[in-house]
Amino acid sequence: MPRHLLLLIISTLFFSSFLSVGVGDAFSDEPNWWMTPHRMLQTNLREVDATMDTDLYVREVQDFGANVVLFSVGGIVANYPTALPYHWRNTYMESDLVGTVLPKLHAANIKMIGRFDFSKINEQFAAKHSDWLYVNEQGQNVNYNGQVHTCLMGGYQQDYMFKILDEAVMKYPLDGVFFNMIGFPQTDYSRVHHGVCQCENCKSSFKAFCGLDLPKHDGDAKALTKLKAWQRAQIDAQFRRVRELVKSIRPNIAICTYTEEHIDVIRKESGQPIGEGHWGNLERAQSTLMKNPTRQLANASNHFHQMIFRHSGVAPYLHTRRLWQLMMSGAWLDFYCMGPLQRLEDRAGLGPAGDVYRFHAANDQWLLDTESAADVGLVYHAGEDFAGWVQMLSESHVPFDLVSVTDSELNRYQTLVVPQSDRLHKDDARILDPYVARGGRLLLSGKVPESLTCTGSPKLIKTWPERHSMYLKIRPEDKQLIALDALKDYDLSHLRGEFHEYAPVPDSQTLLRLVHDVTYGPPEKCYIHSISDIPGMWYRKHGQGAALVLPYEIGRMYAEWGSQTHALLAVGSIDQLLKTPRRASVETSPLVEVTHRRDREGRFEWVGLLNHTGQLAASIHAPVPIPNVTVHLKTSDRVKQIRGLTDGSALQHHQEPNGQETITLPQLNEFEIVLVEYAD
Ligand SMILES: [Zn+2]
Repeated sequence: MPRHLLLLIISTLFFSSFLSVGVGDAFSDEPNWWMTPHRMLQTNLREVDATMDTDLYVREVQDFGANVVLFSVGGIVANYPTALPYHWRNTYMESDLVGTVLPKLHAANIKMIGRFDFSKINEQFAAKHSDWLYVNEQGQNVNYNGQVHTCLMGGYQQDYMFKILDEAVMKYPLDGVFFNMIGFPQTDYSRVHHGVCQCENCKSSFKAFCGLDLPKHDGDAKALTKLKAWQRAQIDAQFRRVRELVKSIRPNIAICTYTEEHIDVIRKESGQPIGEGHWGNLERAQSTLMKNPTRQLANASNHFHQMIFRHSGVAPYLHTRRLWQLMMSGAWLDFYCMGPLQRLEDRAGLGPAGDVYRFHAANDQWLLDTESAADVGLVYHAGEDFAGWVQMLSESHVPFDLVSVTDSELNRYQTLVVPQSDRLHKDDARILDPYVARGGRLLLSGKVPESLTCTGSPKLIKTWPERHSMYLKIRPEDKQLIALDALKDYDLSHLRGEFHEYAPVPDSQTLLRLVHDVTYGPPEKCYIHSISDIPGMWYRKHGQGAALVLPYEIGRMYAEWGSQTHALLAVGSIDQLLKTPRRASVETSPLVEVTHRRDREGRFEWVGLLNHTGQLAASIHAPVPIPNVTVHLKTSDRVKQIRGLTDGSALQHHQEPNGQETITLPQLNEFEIVLVEYAD
C-alpha cells in the first residue's frame, strides 16, 4: 500500500480512537502509530542509572522535544522486578524503574519503546545452561566482563527470551519493543573475531537446512553462501515469532530492530566519528523508505564518537546535518546517548540536536504528512557515480528523490537521471521507454543498455579505457545549447574512467567532442594534436519526451575531483537540453541543500534549506550564516502567506511576470523551512 494511503488510514483511526483513550494511556491503541514521523531519544541506561531522578528524566525528554524514548527494559539487565529466575535483576534498582518511569512518560504523552538485549547473559546463569551459549571456532564460550555470549539457536533466544518478552509486555503498556545485537555476531566488544558459532544447535540446524557441515568463517564459498541464507532464514523466523507473540498481546506495539522482515520500525545508526559524508543520512533515509513503503526508519544520530568512546560526543553540528536529512525524508528523528541526559558528561551536542527536535515538534503540522515535490528522480545505483550525482544536484539546488525503476511512481517526475546506466536491468526498458514516450525526460550516465530504444539504440563501436590525457572539448556551439555564463571560461574538461564510443544516432543532437589525440610527457611535448568527431553527449526526442546520453560516468568524476565543468554540463543538460520544468529553484551558495515538499491535500508547500558550511577538515563548527537566499517557486494556488518556520516571521516576496513567486530569506543560519500557505 502506498505510504500516503497508509498514513490516511492511520490518521483516521487515530482520531477516532483518540476520544476513547485517556492521557495516561499515551495512545498505545493507535494503529500503526509508528508510520507518522516521531522523535525518539534513546538513553541507554547503565545499571547504575537505576538511581536517577525519574521526574527530571521525563522533564529532560520533554525539553529535548522527544515524543518517544527507547528505554532499557530487559535482557542483560532487568530494570523491573522480574519473576523469571534467569533474568538478571538490576542490583542498583530499589523498586521498579520501568514501572516508575513509564506512567510518568505516558502522562506527558511520551511513548516508551522497551529495549531488550538477549545476546548475552550473566555468567552465573551461563554456568547452568551451556546449551544456550555461543561457541567460537576454537570450541570456547565467550565471556566478556562477566557477560557470556548466547546463540540465536540456543534455548535462551529460542525459548527463554519469549518468556521475558511476554512478562514485560504483559506487565507494562509498552508502546514498542526494540532488540539490540540481533542475529549471529562473530566479534566481541573488543572487536576480537571469534567466528561462526559452532554450537550443537547451529550444527544440526544448518545440516538439516542444506545437508552440509557448518563451516567456519573461512570455509568454502558454497557453504558460506548457504550459511548466509540459513542465517537470514533464522533471523526472519525469530522475528516472525516475536511478532506473533507481541502482536497477540497488543497489536499496536511497534517492533523495532536492525532488520526488515516482520519489523515496523527499521533501526539503523549513524556512528562515524566525523560523520558519514555530507549526504549520508539523505541516502540512507530515502533508500530505506523507498524499499520499505509500509515501514518506518529510525536512524540514530549517535551522540558519541564510537562504541570505544561512548561518553564523549561527536561535533555538535554533525547532529544537525544527520537529523535534518532524516526529517526532510519523512523518517523519524533519532538521537542515541549513554544514560539519562542528567548524567551526560559531554552535553555540547544536546543544543543543536535538540534544536532540530524542538523545531519538528513546533512545526509538526507542516511536517508529519507531506510528500516530496521534487521534479527529478535519481535512480538509486549506490556507488561513486551516484554519489557524484547527489553532490551535483544538491550543489545546484535541484530537489530530487532517490527512486527505483520498478518500485517508484516514476510518472510524477519530470526527469529521471540514471547513474551507472549499465546497471539497468533488461526489463527496465519496458518501463523507461514508455516513460519517455509519454513525455518524461531520461538522462543516462555511462553505458547505454541495449534494450533501451528511446536513446536511438546506438551501436557501440568501442570502449576507450581509462588513460592519461583524455578530454572533452566544449565547443562554442555547445555553449550555445548549454548557455551558462559559468561555462565561458571552460573550453575543455578532463575525462577519467571509461568512455563509450557509439555510432551516430539519427535524429539526435550531439554535443562535445572526445579529445584523445594528445601527447603526454615533458611539458614541451604535452599538447593536443586534433579534436575527434566522436560526440561526448547526445540527445534525441522520443515520443513526447527526450533521452540524453553522457557516455561516461560523469558523477564518478565529480565525486573524485569536483571539477565544476562536469557539474555545469550535467545539470546544464537537465535544465537547458532536456528543458526540465523545475517548480522550485534557489539562488544561494552551493553549500546549501534544498528540499521541496508539499501537503498531500495541496494546502501548503515548502522549501527546506540546510546550511552545510562550518566543516573544516575533521572539525564541524557552527554553520556560517548566509545572507539573502532567494527562493523561486511556481506556486500552485493563490498565496495566503509566506514565512520562515524557524521564527515564524513573514518573508518578503513578489510575483514575477511568469507567475512564480520570488521569496527572499534575509539570513540562513543552520536551517530553515520557507513555508508557502495557500488561501482556502
Ligand atoms: Zn550456535
